Amino acid sequence: MPFKSRAADIFLPRDITTYQWLFEHPTYSPLHRFPSNELGGYHNAITKETLSWQQVKEAATHLSTALVRNYGLKPTETVSLFSQNTIYYPVAMHATLRVGGKVSGASPAYNVEEMTYALQKADAKFLMTHPDSMGVAIEAAEKAGLKKENVFMLEGEMKGYKNVKDLIEEGKKLQEVPVWTIPKGKTNGDVCGFLSFSSGTTGLPKAVMISHQNVIAQCLQVQQITPSDLTRILAVLPSFHITGLVHALHLPVLLNATVVMLPAFTMKAMLDTVVEYQLKELLLVPPILIRMVRDPIVDNYDLSFLRRFSSGAAPLSEEIIQLLKKKFPQTGFKQGYGMTESCSCITAHPPSHYDYKYAHSVGTIVSSTTVKIVKEDGTEGGIGEPGEIFAKGPQIVMGYLNNEQATKDTFDADGFLHTGDQGSIDEEGVITILDRIKEMIKVKGIGVAPAELEDLLLGHEKVEDVAVLGIQDEWAGEVPKAYIVPQSGYEGNQALGRELIAYVREKKVRYKAVKEIEFATEIPKSASGKILRRVLRDQSRKGATGV
Ligand code: AMP
Repeated sequence: MPFKSRAADIFLPRDITTYQWLFEHPTYSPLHRFPSNELGGYHNAITKETLSWQQVKEAATHLSTALVRNYGLKPTETVSLFSQNTIYYPVAMHATLRVGGKVSGASPAYNVEEMTYALQKADAKFLMTHPDSMGVAIEAAEKAGLKKENVFMLEGEMKGYKNVKDLIEEGKKLQEVPVWTIPKGKTNGDVCGFLSFSSGTTGLPKAVMISHQNVIAQCLQVQQITPSDLTRILAVLPSFHITGLVHALHLPVLLNATVVMLPAFTMKAMLDTVVEYQLKELLLVPPILIRMVRDPIVDNYDLSFLRRFSSGAAPLSEEIIQLLKKKFPQTGFKQGYGMTESCSCITAHPPSHYDYKYAHSVGTIVSSTTVKIVKEDGTEGGIGEPGEIFAKGPQIVMGYLNNEQATKDTFDADGFLHTGDQGSIDEEGVITILDRIKEMIKVKGIGVAPAELEDLLLGHEKVEDVAVLGIQDEWAGEVPKAYIVPQSGYEGNQALGRELIAYVREKKVRYKAVKEIEFATEIPKSASGKILRRVLRDQSRKGATGV
């Protein structure tokens, strides 16, 4: 039996882009709903630089004009954004979308190989970056075949490279490029505006195609359950992840809230910002919520004005939920559950459920969305029966770029996304996540693909076979653990374990680091050669020892 959201359906505009919707539409755009002195905007909490929605629109107009007229950006082409949070990130994003381009976000911590892969997979023609990421960006751009003149800085100065402000000045001198519109015969559901990376349920990271409609729908779904006291939104989560993209870069425009951006995360910077701006609701990921209850620095701050914690992107343990409730008794709690492939939320807590008694759950199904709970035998489960969560709605994305097989495997013919998460639903329509049955490891809320680490380790001369899976970690939620069969002639000892851990550290971004190695004589596999991760997981839960 499918479970349909009990909330009223959203009305979805289908003929406009996200840019038109947020900056031009008479009903939705804050520019038409509020006087200019009441407009929200993107604000840098450290430098105090602010761009109101009006200024964002003007900047996006000039920037897109320069990109099109002086550098040849064409509709459907991809601009990669490779940067820590800055208020110029969304400017570049809206500018690209204004002229029909696609935006692809990449983790600012990527190394050259990872960034080259991201540029190639997203078929990026332009790259905008930050001084801190410039070294990697230049090398990766060259390897991926981007033209040097198509590499720009979002902010900061570097000899030989233009920044967004330079481009805006160039654009001002040119004839304005008109706003790109959805082609006749198509809807905004047919047009991809964003490419985000996710490994989905299996395999290597893939570029997820997110349409303009997906983002518009998700913003409307979340708006429906957002309380009106949310006038300032903390943007501490990275912009490249779907949570940041939707909840910090798009939704606040619709809500006319001010986005208080933190370029780089430290507990101190975040807490200073929370106090300075008296932020009432904090959208965080479990590793930061863990620090909210365990890090002694928090005790230096009076946070009695806090009204709510909001969690997402990974599971939060019951223990931490209870500690949060105890330490911040005046707060409520909510969380959202979803994936990159569902453009963020499939479920979320509505205001009626902002209570710690619902905190073990991920809330109710967001509007215009249907969920099925599919049992192991393939039949649909009813109330209280556990099974894989399938979801269908206007936020479910278009599929994976240039990967028909993975698209077919993940999005079925009836339009349901197979999440790879196991959950159940109760009589009230409240969903609880019970387990993750897909391969993905969630380190600090960011997905890590075991296949990527397995590929890397298989390339090491002393490794015969390998399987990687996630193990629980007190601070990061989960971390990768590798099961290694050494090549004949090599012994699986502590020295080799340390060598392999160092090897991964050298080749991959920090959050993909392998924390533990266990040596094995063979990796359990099915007849078709697939790693039997469940067998390994069960072994690991029984407490096998590692290096
Ligand atoms: P990503 O595509 O990086 O957003 O990862 C999506 C996956 O993160 C989901 O399929 C879940 O396994 C996990 N996830 C996201 N939100 C939650 C949540 N609130 N509780 C538990 N797991 C979650």
